[in-house]
Amino acid sequence: SLEFKKPAETRLIAVANQKGGVGKTTTAVNVASALAEHGLSVLLIDMDPQGNASTAMGVDHSEGVRSVYDVLEGRLSLNEVKSSSEHFSNLDVVPASIDLSGAEMELATLHERNNLLNSAIQALLADAPTQYDYVIVDCAPSLGLLVLNALCAVKEVLIPIQAEYYALEGLGQLLHTIGLVQRSFNPKLIVSTMLITMYDKRTLLSKEVFDEIQRHYEGIVLNTTIPRSVKISEAPSFGQSIITYDPRGAGSVAYGEAAYELNSRSEKVIQKLHRQEGNE
Ligand code: ADP
Ligand code: MG
Repeated sequence: SLEFKKPAETRLIAVANQKGGVGKTTTAVNVASALAEHGLSVLLIDMDPQGNASTAMGVDHSEGVRSVYDVLEGRLSLNEVKSSSEHFSNLDVVPASIDLSGAEMELATLHERNNLLNSAIQALLADAPTQYDYVIVDCAPSLGLLVLNALCAVKEVLIPIQAEYYALEGLGQLLHTIGLVQRSFNPKLIVSTMLITMYDKRTLLSKEVFDEIQRHYEGIVLNTTIPRSVKISEAPSFGQSIITYDPRGAGSVAYGEAAYELNSRSEKVIQKLHRQEGNE
């Protein structure tokens, strides 16, 4: 079995890609679960009004429930809205309710509008610096204010990339936006990780996408790829991650290995972040 070493400090990661359907939520949920399965403590924050990550974790996100919306609006702390996941006591989930869909407009007028999530996470870390090994934020498929809040609150971005013909299209735009956020708001931000999802090893195309990304982003893209699997797409309807829904299946193994690879890079990533801070 793989050994998951605790990172020296809390890793703050946003799972982002403005394209919908590339596997952001699936990755956020399953990487979070795989890390938790191996004993790391994880906070998963759903920042998509659709609440798909909340659903997949079996956490209530119906209209009016306490959610990240209350946190952004300053009414409640992350600790007050989180709940422990059913399957892992060391995995907490902050749900997103549909109320969040109106938040973008409401929050736009606030002075500190970019840093609402950042303040909440900083307050959490100030209270209990060692409580979490990972804070993972599942982003909506847009580049709006909610995503901006996520990018201002984290240090790392994990970009899931679907192995398909148009995979690289839009990636440039995303990296450009991340660059802007880095220069204007969050100098600490780095793209630490890319993960190829829905990989079909029978097709040449999947391999070509992987090779192309590998060529451009070596050291960032994980060697592990996530296969296309019906089980992975079924798991959320049972309120479960693939890790508990189909523990021995290919999807579970792949997400376990991706989480292992991500975690084994902790020291390197943290060093890179510290160098970046030094250059500010
Ligand atoms: P996003 O959050 O980027 O919009 P999702 O994670 O919701 O994307 O994935 C989009 C759809 O594809 C969902 O129905 C999901 O269940 C499915 N899906 C994601 N990853 C896989 C996979 N590896 N194999 C099969 N289906 C997948
Ligand atoms: Mg999603």
